[in-house]
Amino acid sequence: AEAVDKQEAALDSVRHLPYLVVSEDVGAQSLLNKLIRNNLVNTTNQVEVLQKDPNSPLYSVKSFEELRLKPQLLQGVYGMGFNRPSKIQETALPMMLAEPPQNLIAQSQSGTGKTAAFVLAMLSHVDPNNKYPQCLCVSPTYELALQTGKVIEQMGKYYPEVKLVYAIRGNKLQRGMKLQEQIVIGTPGTMLDWCSKFKFIDPKKIKVFVLDEADVMIATQGHQDQSIRIQRMLPKNCQMLLFSATFEESVWNFAQRIVPDPNIIKLKREEETLDTIKQYYVLCNSKEEKFQALSNIYGAITIAQAMIFCHTRKTAGWLAGELSREGHQVALLSGEMQVEQRAAVIERFRDGKEKVLVTTNVCARGIDVEQVSVVINFDLPIDKDGNPDNETYLHRIGRTGRFGKRGLAINMVDSKMSMNILYRIQEHFNKKIEKLDTDDLDEIE
Ligand code: ADP
Repeated sequence: AEAVDKQEAALDSVRHLPYLVVSEDVGAQSLLNKLIRNNLVNTTNQVEVLQKDPNSPLYSVKSFEELRLKPQLLQGVYGMGFNRPSKIQETALPMMLAEPPQNLIAQSQSGTGKTAAFVLAMLSHVDPNNKYPQCLCVSPTYELALQTGKVIEQMGKYYPEVKLVYAIRGNKLQRGMKLQEQIVIGTPGTMLDWCSKFKFIDPKKIKVFVLDEADVMIATQGHQDQSIRIQRMLPKNCQMLLFSATFEESVWNFAQRIVPDPNIIKLKREEETLDTIKQYYVLCNSKEEKFQALSNIYGAITIAQAMIFCHTRKTAGWLAGELSREGHQVALLSGEMQVEQRAAVIERFRDGKEKVLVTTNVCARGIDVEQVSVVINFDLPIDKDGNPDNETYLHRIGRTGRFGKRGLAINMVDSKMSMNILYRIQEHFNKKIEKLDTDDLDEIE
């Protein structure tokens, strides 16, 4: 059993490496991140704007009214509970809605309002009287496409004349038919087939082309080429929009091939900090003792929602079992689960149906857990060589800027080795991690 555990841990830590991450994982991370969040990421950073024509005035709006949207769309926006444009929307929306349309490359972290922005642009640009596709939106995965589709439906709630269709595998259409829907959203392969092989779509009539999650897109074999081939079929005056959460060289190169003469908007990621976090460690001798300590903590303090990280699937499964035997409502997020299953778990947790989420280090790697007030490292994060994984530690328990609520992090230590990891993490961040005595928990609250 020990050997299997080791092997799993080794596999898990390999998957962690960015260059080895299989694309499905990147897509899944991105989806789970969308699902766990139900509001905007706050940011104090300013947007950086690079205009195609530096001499043209730069408009930015502070309200949705200033955009002169169709009343049905303004109603849709307010219906979603949006009061004012997000930081990136302030600049991106006027550019996207300008006449003549402008091309845009925009980069900002997940949760800053990119999707809402391009959905609004697509809905504004279509003419519902024309019964043929006018906007194409490509997403890296089926699930992400559905997610964006939901936003289109919500925002277009009061504009029912505009119709939407999904170009995804499994959506089989009759040969020779022509689509009547104004917006087509899907994955690159099917979208390409629908435009060229099956001719369900006339690409020459497309007014807006959106490429979402460019960084995830290029991680999937073939998606880059397919996207470029779609783009080549579109008319010169078609508006091209590309969005990405990150911006490495490879994403940038791809972006420039998809979007000619772009305006560029970048919003720096808010720095994560440990300043607003109380960090503790608990000294134990075995995983059973760690569980006991955890129970003591649960007995002593009120924990609204906690996320617990384990190194292997096996430990995660075991711990989830033990916790539910103690009467906790536990959700388990594990690598062998299908994307839909993981998504369902995340959504239930987000909605507060479960109070504890147990997960493996890898499974929740890129997930932002800002709304969770207590994070427990049942195993400390380490890389494949057994060194402390400081970046993961920070992302897991850190909070962004001054918006971050206060949080609590508890690290379980069960060996000399893990104590050493803990010391090194403490040293790296130069922030004290206090010892916690789980038989005397008064100090923690
Ligand atoms: P991104 O595409 O950058 O990940 P989204 O467009 O999905 O960001 O927005 C993140 C969350 O914030 C979503 O829940 C969305 O409904 C919400 N949101 C987007 N724009 C606004 C806004 N202007 N005001 C309030 N909430 C917003």
